[in-house]
Amino acid sequence: MYVVLQTSFLGDMILTTPLIARLAERGAVDVVATPANAGVLANHPAVRQVLVFDKRGADAGVAGLWRMAARLRECNAQTAYMAQGSLRTAALARLAGIPERIGFATSPGRMLYTSRVPFRRELHHAQRLWQLGSNLDDASAPTVRPSLFPGIVDMAQVDALLQANGVAAGEPLIALAPGSVWATKRWPSFDALAAQLANDDMLRSHRVVVVGAASDGPLARAVIEALRARGVTSAIDATGRLSLLGSAALLSHAKMLVTNDSAPLHLASAMNTPTVALFGPTVPSFGFGPLSERHMIVEQHGLACRPCHAHGPQQCPLGHWKCMREITSETVVAAVRNVVTHA
Ligand code: SF4
Repeated sequence: MYVVLQTSFLGDMILTTPLIARLAERGAVDVVATPANAGVLANHPAVRQVLVFDKRGADAGVAGLWRMAARLRECNAQTAYMAQGSLRTAALARLAGIPERIGFATSPGRMLYTSRVPFRRELHHAQRLWQLGSNLDDASAPTVRPSLFPGIVDMAQVDALLQANGVAAGEPLIALAPGSVWATKRWPSFDALAAQLANDDMLRSHRVVVVGAASDGPLARAVIEALRARGVTSAIDATGRLSLLGSAALLSHAKMLVTNDSAPLHLASAMNTPTVALFGPTVPSFGFGPLSERHMIVEQHGLACRPCHAHGPQQCPLGHWKCMREITSETVVAAVRNVVTHA
């Protein structure tokens, strides 16, 4: 019996699925997740149950931690995999009485682990997490890809959205994901990209669909307006209209995705959707690049200030934000053409 504790961002949860799948080959796997991320594991055949840990809400504070530990104790797990490395998460596993606790040697909660695994910076984060489930002397790290399993309800959501917008069977879609929690990771020219797609001989036959959370609505509307200004009225705003797995299902329909370094990138990796990924204040070598078989990365090489932050600051500390502002829509369209041609 195993439990995987992952209470970080959505992308981290998606990248934990190869570890979960690996552990499920040996026994039942329960997962501790935040309320925001729990839904992405629905229908996953490797997951026995998801325990929701609302660490910033109902389960906040010491009393919440004890309550959650009591629930976790009922799982009777022998081994906890600390995919999220905080002291609080480590304390949760310890309080739940789980005898073996395995996590990264660099994590803040490492003092409470029984085994510490090297954090190998050269690997993709999905591989690092996967290696938590390896023998400690196993240095190999195969290519892994996350997996998600949209259900009937998620697929029905997508079918309804496409039908309501008159999308014909087989009509090619280009998905755009202009949002990110971190402001400096949001490439500011998705509207200019949309305008170029409308004028491009090869790409104008593709329908644009904008994906993201409800909070990405204003970014989606800017894209839709840019297309309208060029006479294209067929674009679809899917922001805030689909479940997480519905978004994954929609991406599986799309010919490709253009995205920032944010959660949709990892949804696309799980669905193996060809991807153009834009990196600004962060770099792919942090371990969060695309894992779709067909992908391209667009970034400004040669900027001495990159990377400037583990996630991407809310404001450019230098004020010029060149890492994103200097990525041109022409460069991105060329990458889109390349990916679409070989998809
Ligand atoms: S400091 Fe450099 S890398 Fe960081 S946000 Fe500004 S331009 Fe981008």
